[in-house]
Amino acid sequence: MTVLPYAEALAAYDPVLGLEVHVELNTVSKMFCGCSTAFGAEPNTQVCAVCLGLPGSLPVVNAKAVESAIRIGLALNCTIAEWCRFSRKNYFYPDMPKNYQISQYDEPIAYDGWTEVVLDGQVFRIGIERAHMEEDTGKSLHVGGATGRIHGAEYSLLDYNRSGVPLIEIVTKPIEGTGAQAPEVARAYVTMLRDLLRALDVSDVRMEQGSLRCDANVSLRPVGTLALGTRTETKNVNSLRSVERAVRYEITRQAAVLAGGGRITQETRHWHEDSGVTTPGRSKETSEDYRYFPEPDLVPVAPSREWVEELRGTLPEPPAAKLRRVTAEWGFSELEMRDAVSAGAVNAIEATVAAGASPQSARKWWLTEVARRANEAGVDLEEVKISPQQVAEIQALVENGTINDKLARQVFEGVIAGEGSPSEVVNARQLAIVSDEGALAAAVDQAINANPDIVDKIKSGKVQAAGALIGSVMKQMRGQADATRVREMILEKIG
Ligand SMILES: [Zn+2]
Repeated sequence: MTVLPYAEALAAYDPVLGLEVHVELNTVSKMFCGCSTAFGAEPNTQVCAVCLGLPGSLPVVNAKAVESAIRIGLALNCTIAEWCRFSRKNYFYPDMPKNYQISQYDEPIAYDGWTEVVLDGQVFRIGIERAHMEEDTGKSLHVGGATGRIHGAEYSLLDYNRSGVPLIEIVTKPIEGTGAQAPEVARAYVTMLRDLLRALDVSDVRMEQGSLRCDANVSLRPVGTLALGTRTETKNVNSLRSVERAVRYEITRQAAVLAGGGRITQETRHWHEDSGVTTPGRSKETSEDYRYFPEPDLVPVAPSREWVEELRGTLPEPPAAKLRRVTAEWGFSELEMRDAVSAGAVNAIEATVAAGASPQSARKWWLTEVARRANEAGVDLEEVKISPQQVAEIQALVENGTINDKLARQVFEGVIAGEGSPSEVVNARQLAIVSDEGALAAAVDQAINANPDIVDKIKSGKVQAAGALIGSVMKQMRGQADATRVREMILEKIG
């Protein structure tokens, strides 16, 4: 597929984004029935007449889900509807046995809000069109094809455990004015939203498990014009990195089409993680195609103003405000903070500091040892198998002299490889610094005896030559010695 180089695409076209994020709520039961929402159960073990869509079954709204929806709306500075209804969105798909999804159409529970994302010290204000409640569909597993998609599959399996799990769909207004930063802004927005939803404690927000899913709408218009171009919607992008990559790819693909005199087709597209491209899905329906009408089996939702205000009092600190606060508390330079934000390490650093590490040491480990491994594996920082508590524990081992920075890297390696806690790795790999003076003295003697010429240099006043002897001792001790103490001992013996 033809793409235009990114810089060329941006010289000619101005990208406009629209991001739709689906969040599975962490309620104990489903949106309209009492079935469990626990992830990972045997297929079709968490189902009943309601979520299987059997004739005559009647849905009942989950109050906790409405509460979470209102708190999400408030955290995104939305107006909360005084009265709203559910609607039926009619379409056929095997993973949806009722042949309609209960959603909200023209009466969302929350609308007209805004939020902020911070990128490289620059604040982008993102308008929120709406946040509405709906139910998730089941899951299809297409077996026998090369791609896991329905085309080419021999047969399909259906699991309705997810059918009816409460979802909130959060839709932005068109995001304009981001220019070349559009892919990074998209990623920063989803990151911010994930952090906010986690702080609200309304969802597990696990992109790899599908509890947070992003659809990225991208359109281009010639630089200097205002009318929005035709957009495409890349569906179900399932990692933060992929959000950025998918938006970047769509910009270069659409630019090539437009520059070649072609037109963009309004359609959904699939993101392919391995090849880094999007391919066409179905041509996009309009809302008329769904024949929405108010759900006759459910009463309207009319949250009292007292309840809404009570919920407002439970909101966590907004992410942008939190960023300003921790920047001041941690004493980071602007550049240090920028690196921490772009690595997605702010929460990890915060948790590591809470576990007892200094901000600078927490920053150092997350942005070097952990970030390097995340990059190598092509995953987000928090998918690396080490916790903030473990990072703090490694730093504590450095500070109490059990290990040094160099040995700490081996501890990171061991913990991430699943060899146990930092202390267990230190013990199993025998990494602790040798504090046995006898063993150290023997190694120092050995180094002195083997290097008479260096000893002469030190005696004649060239103290810096001691470095070679320290190196020799460290080598004998496999790096597990305190270099400052070794230096002291060498100078004592020679002097
Ligand atoms: Zn059920």
